[in-house]
Amino acid sequence: MNNKMKTLIDEASLHARIADIATEIDEYYLGQWWYMRTQEPVVIIGILTGAMFFMADLVRKLSIRVELDFIRVSTYPGKTTIAKKPKIITQPTRSLHNAHVLLLDDILDTGKTINMVRENLELQSTESIMTAVLLRKTGKALTGVTPGFVGFDIPDDFVIGYGLDYNGRYREMPYVAVWSKDGH
Ligand code: 5GP
Ligand code: MG
Repeated sequence: MNNKMKTLIDEASLHARIADIATEIDEYYLGQWWYMRTQEPVVIIGILTGAMFFMADLVRKLSIRVELDFIRVSTYPGKTTIAKKPKIITQPTRSLHNAHVLLLDDILDTGKTINMVRENLELQSTESIMTAVLLRKTGKALTGVTPGFVGFDIPDDFVIGYGLDYNGRYREMPYVAVWSKDGH
């Protein structure tokens, strides 16, 4: 760790909270009439690349039946940290027709990414779509963007680690840290 990073959420706290979110998700789906009747798998779609660690840890804690797929979206192309308009680069492989989808992302900032992906998936005649985000920047989300499941509410700082990158780096860090440009 160098002096540009300050731990915000350590590994143990991440794993404890993810276990709790898994319980919340299990309880939600186990209470749905269609799940009780059919035990149809929930299609969990991770937004690449950032959601992969959250997804891997979360799905191993779930009891409900799941199938996994991914969607690739570009949010911060190039070297900048200023959000550009998100764009879908790769669609999920399986058909989402009549599927019950749980969309996962690492962080919700303005909510533009989740909203855009959600609207796109709805066009594929999904049966239901829920969203879960590990982190949410408090007070920043556009009105009307309320994820079904949230791990942690965090301040509006740029964070890295546990899937989140700065210019392509630091995704593999096992904890979430605040990135400070001026080294404090
Ligand atoms: P939104 O579309 O909600 O404004 O932004 C969501 C996306 O922006 C996330 O999927 C993530 O890729 C990126 N993002 C937002 N805030 C941060 C941050 O603090 N750190 C990193 N590394 N990415 C972020
Ligand atoms: Mg992302």
